[in-house]
Amino acid sequence: VNSRSLIDVEGMSAGQLDQVLAQAAQLAEPDPSPLRGRHVALLFAEPSTRTRLSFEVAARRLGGETYVLDPQSSSMVKGETLVDTVRNLGAIGFSVLVVRHHRAGAAAVAARYFGGAVINAGDGWHAHPTQALLDLFTLRQRFGDLNGRKVAIVGDVLHSRVAKSNVWTLSTFGADVWLSGPAGWLRGMDRYPARVTDDLDQAIDGADAVMGLRVQKERMARGMSFDSYIERYQITEARLARSAPEAYYMHPGPINEGVEVTREVARGPRSLVLEQAHNGVPIRMAVLANAASNVPATPQERELVRSLS
Ligand code: ASP
Repeated sequence: VNSRSLIDVEGMSAGQLDQVLAQAAQLAEPDPSPLRGRHVALLFAEPSTRTRLSFEVAARRLGGETYVLDPQSSSMVKGETLVDTVRNLGAIGFSVLVVRHHRAGAAAVAARYFGGAVINAGDGWHAHPTQALLDLFTLRQRFGDLNGRKVAIVGDVLHSRVAKSNVWTLSTFGADVWLSGPAGWLRGMDRYPARVTDDLDQAIDGADAVMGLRVQKERMARGMSFDSYIERYQITEARLARSAPEAYYMHPGPINEGVEVTREVARGPRSLVLEQAHNGVPIRMAVLANAASNVPATPQERELVRSLS
């Protein structure tokens, strides 16, 4: 409507009236499929179940077209580098790339060479942003305000991108974050905004939530064994007696039941593990929608939208 003020409807044309109504309808119902026609590539150079599936479900729910790229059956086994692959993805018509890689920094490299949006689905020991976001979402659903809540993250912190990303998000919201595990797995962690101790009891004492991490056999340092880990660091009901009475147990998965945590705790009433998996979808929907809104559609995607309309 071309006029600055609205004083009367008398004199407004059908076209002008329609324009207001159409705009209202659009604003009342935000676009249900912000990824319509968008080509979302899922490049997972490392195994994943929850993360890959929930990104796929999230992209499809938003109307996107998903394509999973398996490095094992792509030219990456012939020596094509991540950079080559990523450059070609843009040329083929992708505007969104979800990448999981065993090397820290891989997602940032991909973002440098890919014209569209890159979402890090976990890079080496570095970061796992969507996991931290869904953990934050899960905890805030339970506690509301996280200010002053004590969260203990326990296990192989040094090699865990989940732990590192969680430290940033939780501390940003005022949580009192503690990192605990064998001393060798806490090396260098004092530069993060968290308290660090190899004394599990101290970390768990009064905690509102305890987050477990997967213990990987290949990461066991010399002189360390599953048995010694279990003895000192396994999360059990008895150990949780030191935590707040209603303390929650979290874990990004996959869990080694009987190693980092007992089956009783992992599947018991304190466990938020399935809630975390459930929340992965809306969080990844939000991240994908935001990413797509920040990059233009490729010509191929625009063509697809036209053919779908
Ligand atoms: N699934 C999580 C990750 O990809 C945790 C793990 O693998 O232990 O980092």
